[in-house]
Amino acid sequence: MQVKLWGVRGSIPTPLSNREYKNKIQRILENAIKTGLGDISKIDDFIKKLPDDLQHVYGGNTTCVSLTSESGITYIIDCGTGLRPLGYDLMKGPCGEGKGVITFFITHNHWDHIQGLPFFNPIYVSGNVLNFYSPYKKQRELLEQQQSAPFFPGIFNDTPSMKNFYLLDTKNRTSVKFEDDLIMDYFPLNHPCGSFAYRFKQNNKIFIFATDAEFTGKILETIGNSTDFFLNADLLIIDSQYTLKESFLKIDWGHTSYTMAVNCGVKWSIKNLVLTHHEPSYYDSKLHLNWKKAVEHGKLINNKNTKIIMAREGMVFKL
Ligand SMILES: [Zn+2]
Ligand SMILES: [Zn+2]
Repeated sequence: MQVKLWGVRGSIPTPLSNREYKNKIQRILENAIKTGLGDISKIDDFIKKLPDDLQHVYGGNTTCVSLTSESGITYIIDCGTGLRPLGYDLMKGPCGEGKGVITFFITHNHWDHIQGLPFFNPIYVSGNVLNFYSPYKKQRELLEQQQSAPFFPGIFNDTPSMKNFYLLDTKNRTSVKFEDDLIMDYFPLNHPCGSFAYRFKQNNKIFIFATDAEFTGKILETIGNSTDFFLNADLLIIDSQYTLKESFLKIDWGHTSYTMAVNCGVKWSIKNLVLTHHEPSYYDSKLHLNWKKAVEHGKLINNKNTKIIMAREGMVFKL
């Protein structure tokens, strides 16, 4: 399977500011002067050696991730504003001809996880089929509410695509098996108004998506003892909105520090741990610093096998 990140920012879309853009240019030029860059043909090499926060923009769109299974079927987790560019991409294929079938999984209905749906072009094409899997009984009603007058001009129920809603059984948490042998499981998370993690398995590869979630030492112990839901994944994308210090100031806000996220990843023997749901007030330079500190923290707790990665829009993981 292939996993692509379309939105990694938490809480609210966060475009790059002019101040941050100028700061990046200044630091890049300082770097160029220090390293004596004087040849246009060496620009590519120069860029590759820059720190991550100068090579890239982490991204301002809110949560949206696509999963393309081995047989080429597209699944989407959450409908944050990252869904808009994903929609443009999908319109180049069957969705543009009204022959698309897209399956969505909804973690919860906070704005930053559903706000992109009114801007998802395939929803406006007759013939496309959108299947929504959700643990919330009123899922359709909630999407109707956000896409209704006077909040939005194109009413959800008037959009010509077909929508099907499937309620997940939160009591028994029965696995769902799809036609391409992709198996999906789900798990409740600690978050205001609730949220669910999703776990996907195909060809013995495991991908888990777990935001929004407030993992604590106590929860980590409890989960470790009660279930193997989180164990041994090839890829875990996890909430890590805060620094440890900020997480202590925001107890019960429903998000995790990168320190605790690393504790989780190492304890659960995760191969690739991706830190996401970035705090909107953190500039790219701070996110890069947080990543370095997260790697350092991993060393302190004797991390040997978990690769720690800072989520960035456009990142692709092939499992
Ligand atoms: Zn969120
Ligand atoms: Zn939330």
